[in-house]
Amino acid sequence: MLAPVIDFHCHLDLYSNPEQLVRRCKNLDAYILSVTTTPKAWRGTSRLALGNSRIRTALGLHPQIAHQRLNELPLFDALLPETRYVGEVGLDGSPEFKSHWQEQTKVFNHILAAATQANGRVISVHSRRAVADVLKILECHPDAGVPVLHWFSGTKAELARAIDIGCWFSVGPAMLLSKRSRELVSMMPRDRTLTETDGPFAEEHGHQLKPGEVGRAYEALALGWNVSPNEVGGLVYSSFKVLASYQVGGPLEA
Ligand code: MN
Repeated sequence: MLAPVIDFHCHLDLYSNPEQLVRRCKNLDAYILSVTTTPKAWRGTSRLALGNSRIRTALGLHPQIAHQRLNELPLFDALLPETRYVGEVGLDGSPEFKSHWQEQTKVFNHILAAATQANGRVISVHSRRAVADVLKILECHPDAGVPVLHWFSGTKAELARAIDIGCWFSVGPAMLLSKRSRELVSMMPRDRTLTETDGPFAEEHGHQLKPGEVGRAYEALALGWNVSPNEVGGLVYSSFKVLASYQVGGPLEA
């Protein structure tokens, strides 16, 4: 029997037809982490998941807009007790966002401190061109919960460090494309790696990925780990169950 599909980083609310896609999700054997980019979006986005217990909504504040949304940090704090999932949060060191680095680090530190105060959360983390700094900040907040590095694109040394400090990973279809990403994927721990679409931003041959369309990510992991895609499905589902059973304030239990 095939394991259910895991899409652990998807922006349901940013598709043009989220309600229709949520209805479609009902027919998929899939678990979805619906991430948000602003605290203001959380309430409406979590409403999309009503009636579908396989969709969980994460509370986020995306680093690319951190400088415009500093005033939503109090709302972040107010909503945090309502969810066990935080994301999308993190840092973005690309040239176009580096000018707001100070605000980005302020927001990321604030969020990790709030998660610590709240006894921990599962946290979907953006680290584009900023892996070293993301890891440094995560290390300052060891009790913030379980960080899941989404779309990891750092170096092998940074990946080793991330594994060392207890990070998890979520891998998307794009990781199949370059030799470098395939090498990274092969290093990712089999008991701490999930799959994701990052839809609607991620595309495959010009096709916008829909929630749960993670087939190519399973292929990437199958190549990297030298196992069959079906075995990957089983491994990813087992890891997901560990994460989904994460108890606030408690250790992860298999
Ligand atoms: Mn994203």
